[in-house]
Amino acid sequence: MDILILDAHQVRQLLPMAACIDVMAQALTALTRGEAQNPLRTMMWLPDQHGLLVTMPASMGDAMGIKVISVMPGNHGSEYDSHMGAVLLFEAAHGRPLALIDASEITAIRTAAVSGVATRLLAQEDAGDLAILGTGVQADSHLEAMLAVRPIRRVRVWSRNSANRAQLAARAKARYGVTVEPVDSAEAAVRGADIICTATSAAEPVLRGEWLSAGAHLNVVGASTPKAREVDSTAMRRSRLFVDRRESTLNEAGDFLIPKQEGVIGDDHILAELGEVLLGQKPGRSAPDEITLFKSLGLAVEDLASAQYIYQKAVEKGIGTAVAFGALRTDSH
Ligand code: NDP
Repeated sequence: MDILILDAHQVRQLLPMAACIDVMAQALTALTRGEAQNPLRTMMWLPDQHGLLVTMPASMGDAMGIKVISVMPGNHGSEYDSHMGAVLLFEAAHGRPLALIDASEITAIRTAAVSGVATRLLAQEDAGDLAILGTGVQADSHLEAMLAVRPIRRVRVWSRNSANRAQLAARAKARYGVTVEPVDSAEAAVRGADIICTATSAAEPVLRGEWLSAGAHLNVVGASTPKAREVDSTAMRRSRLFVDRRESTLNEAGDFLIPKQEGVIGDDHILAELGEVLLGQKPGRSAPDEITLFKSLGLAVEDLASAQYIYQKAVEKGIGTAVAFGALRTDSH
């Protein structure tokens, strides 16, 4: 029996952003239809709290899989990615492991692709003024995803370190030919923007609701634990809230749970999961001046659907390294 090993470069080659946006829309609708299992992830913090190890299992159709990923926010700016690990893909009939795939790149692409799905569904059609808070891996991939779904005319970016802002602008110019304006405050990035992506490792709000313009759409991507948040309670209160999954939001999202604890919002503030909007079960944006907010936590089913797609394309194209792994039983017992 072989297992196929696929590295970060091969993931990027096999999972283009535009394709991943469609794969994510299919995975989210499958989840809403009850065709996928996605238990809550486990998070094991290291004793000194400098990082954690996360396990994310899921099953869907004829596949199951698990992502195991370390999260080390302090790695930003070093040679190491802040998210590293692997997705292990199995076929579900006999439980055979099929592939071991780099998880840094899957996470970078699929997270932005889900924000792409949300933006395509919820942002105004002509939304073209983009603000990105954060200058790391997700900031890069969110720029790519936003360019894929809306006619972006202007991009402003902020994070705390001016060198990081300048580097993101240089990468954007080289990769997409896009001019990005580095700005020296989050407020200067957000005021007047139509689409705002928050993709920082901040635990305290970096975005204040009073800065938001009527009609804006937000993808709030960064914080994924109950005590951390990127946007303040005013931003949450002013917005119509859409989520990847209710159960995850109620258990993991500080952006939602902290204003809830303050009594600013209740559970009914969650209007819909993206899958419900995609299936037409719940409305999305209902007026041009509404502020819509997608709270992203990241789901195992997104990693599984990405891994399935990558594996299928890798087999078709003969890409990857097959390694003998485990043995078929020739005797029966
Ligand atoms: P990176 O480490 O690559 O980048 C982190 C960014 O956050 C940097 O631009 C850093 O820039 C900025 N930052 C760090 N601390 C602060 C702060 N206190 N205030 C403002 N900015 C800060 O991480 P990624 O891009 O990979 O991930 C970004 C966030 O998204 C993380 O929180 C991560 O856990 C989360 N994430 C969410 C996923 C989901 O599915 N929803 C999936 C993957 C990641 P600077 O130092 O210049 O401020």
